Amino acid sequence: MRIKRWQFVVGGIVLAAVVGLLTVSLHQRASPTQESMAVPQNNPTAQERKEVLDDTHDAMAQDNLPNRTDGMDTPTDAAVTVPIVMYHGLIEDPQRQNRYMIDPAYFEQDLQYLTDNGYHTIVIQDLLDYFDKGTPLPDRPIMLTFDDGYYNNYLYAYPLLQRYHCRAVLSPIGSEAVKAVEEIRRHANYSQCTWAELAEMAASGCIELQNHTYALHRLEEGRRGAGRKSGESDEDYIRLLQDDLQQFNAVMQEATGQVPLCFTCPFGEKNDTMLSVIREMGFRAMMDCEEKPNVLTSVEDLYHLHRYLRPNEKSSETFFARLLS
Ligand SMILES: [Zn+2]
Repeated sequence: MRIKRWQFVVGGIVLAAVVGLLTVSLHQRASPTQESMAVPQNNPTAQERKEVLDDTHDAMAQDNLPNRTDGMDTPTDAAVTVPIVMYHGLIEDPQRQNRYMIDPAYFEQDLQYLTDNGYHTIVIQDLLDYFDKGTPLPDRPIMLTFDDGYYNNYLYAYPLLQRYHCRAVLSPIGSEAVKAVEEIRRHANYSQCTWAELAEMAASGCIELQNHTYALHRLEEGRRGAGRKSGESDEDYIRLLQDDLQQFNAVMQEATGQVPLCFTCPFGEKNDTMLSVIREMGFRAMMDCEEKPNVLTSVEDLYHLHRYLRPNEKSSETFFARLLS
């Protein structure tokens, strides 16, 4: 007991000495400036010491930030890193699983892994609000995306997202969702979502729909996805893109009341003309399939969002180690 008390007393003296030295050193640092006038020189309270420490911390942080002009903590001052994952279909039959059709169990493991490790799923609108309005992003933001609008997304991904309180961006092919209504026997292995199902998911708030073309998601002679056909004139190519993307937007608006803000390139095919067309049409973002990190410093960077394909037969830990390192 005597020893413990002795240790307590010495510890208290050392702590008091450290706090005293720190306070003196901070006051000396601030003393040549006007700011020091506002700080009492004798017996500063804990709150006053905290304010000095906060000011010092802010000043140090500001030194490290690029392009700071106004002293306000606006989102555009600092880069935000947002990994984006690309999924397509979720299929239970192992015989049908491949690079683009993965076991739904992997998707659930991914949601569990992200939840356990403090990641928060965001959608395109969150990035726009961050840059446009300064709305803060959650800690450890990550984006999950589904391409092509498979019916199995509705069957498996949608309930799992709701169960884990996560969100995802879904980019269906417009004409496929129109045709899906006519299908008599629908199946998780091959069917597409209808616009009614897409609208239901969008209304739930956990799915954000984006444009994956109305009918350009195909490989035809000389054209890959929404890419330019060999020898095609600017005028023809621009008109083709405008007509197709507008048709998607119109169908989506009628079905959901919402307008897509992001263009998700089929097969990752992109070019400068496409980018200028989507900008002029009012799209605010574009997603490709390049497996690169997204370090976003301005709203302009949303036109170059890259994504990592989530393959089958990899643990969540192994897959995310690559994205989140
Ligand atoms: Zn696609």
